Amino acid sequence: GRGGAAWEKQVHRSAKPDRPGGMTVLVTGAAGFIGAHCSLALKKRGEGVLGLDNFNDYYDPSLKRARQALLSKHEIFIVEGDLNDKPLLIKLFDVVPFTHVLHLAAQAGVRYAMQNPQSYVASNVAGFVNLLEVCKDVNPQPAIVWASSSSVYGLNTENPFSELHRTDQPASLYAATKKAGEEIAHTYNHIYGLSLTGLRFFTVYGPWGRPDMAYFFFTKDILQGKTIDVYQTQEDKEVARDFTYIDDVVKGCVGALDTAEKSTGSGGKKRGPAQLRVYNLGNTSPVPVGKLVAILEGLLNVKAKKHVIRMPRNGDVPFTHANVSLANRDFGYKPTTDLAAGLRKFVKWYVGYYGVQLGAKKGNN
Ligand code: NAD
Repeated sequence: GRGGAAWEKQVHRSAKPDRPGGMTVLVTGAAGFIGAHCSLALKKRGEGVLGLDNFNDYYDPSLKRARQALLSKHEIFIVEGDLNDKPLLIKLFDVVPFTHVLHLAAQAGVRYAMQNPQSYVASNVAGFVNLLEVCKDVNPQPAIVWASSSSVYGLNTENPFSELHRTDQPASLYAATKKAGEEIAHTYNHIYGLSLTGLRFFTVYGPWGRPDMAYFFFTKDILQGKTIDVYQTQEDKEVARDFTYIDDVVKGCVGALDTAEKSTGSGGKKRGPAQLRVYNLGNTSPVPVGKLVAILEGLLNVKAKKHVIRMPRNGDVPFTHANVSLANRDFGYKPTTDLAAGLRKFVKWYVGYYGVQLGAKKGNN
């Protein structure tokens, strides 16, 4: 049970850094795609890592359990709980001297927001506020790096997206809650001196990825011979995404943690200015969805059955394209994996994880 001796022992073992002066990081959303990868990378570097995740069923929870099992092999423990559970968060900060928080827990997905709007408000707004309310009272305050999203650029058409561009036209409730998170972060930085770094991720993909994302369900459907929907814009242009490989994103997250300034506040009192930073973490080369499908066809050895349709107004934006010069300047962020190379690694993982066979030349991976 929570708070028992065995629980505390696991928490301490997981959170203790293996190197002198190492960070002690609370990773929220650690059973998620990006959270699991970041937790492993931090642990391998000798940092202390403790996860928090509510294992919700937005997508197949068995995939979250499999990531948890992988992390547990590396002595990373995930506390099962919700961001909105304030007593739990207070307890975690009481027992562990966290130096950093990597806050990745959120309700993700653009289209699902139309069916389940309140889950976005609960996790991305209320849950984030709850976390910040706890962090502001910790002494010394942890530095916080959190996941924003390229979706904040919404219907912005200036290309590529720079952090200075407008973000006042969110096209989905998901985007609106991510934008709200940025405003909320600004307030907590201003009032309490919390150190806060927001990362605007651009369509992150790779092994252990999310089944609700197009590259993932395209792979599944193409292998099963099902017809896939390929969207065009209302103007019959191809939809394009700045697909970013997970290993590049992990390096960006670690770089942001490494360069995060220590908070200047403590015990809820502000002492002086601390950082509020926001960065794009993209790949800088958007790829049309048709090209994504063509790469997958090649890797899977199967010709896809395609159904080309106009994009409904469901929250998707026509294209994303990151300018990453700010992240490059401040922590050397430089994406190095192109879509074909990254998808090759994803397909290799997919085939092994689900034990499926590729088309034509079977077993040829
Ligand atoms: P994910 O859904 O795989 O991971 C999020 C994890 O958070 C899940 O395991 C979920 O169970 C957990 N969670 C959700 N609500 C919670 C709550 N209230 N309390 C505790 N745990 C909760 O998603 P991901 O792709 O790893 O995304 C990580 C972060 O990056 C999210 O904030 C997401 O919005 C953001 N992001 C992701 C992408 C992308 O392309 N993957 C793009 C932009 C932004």
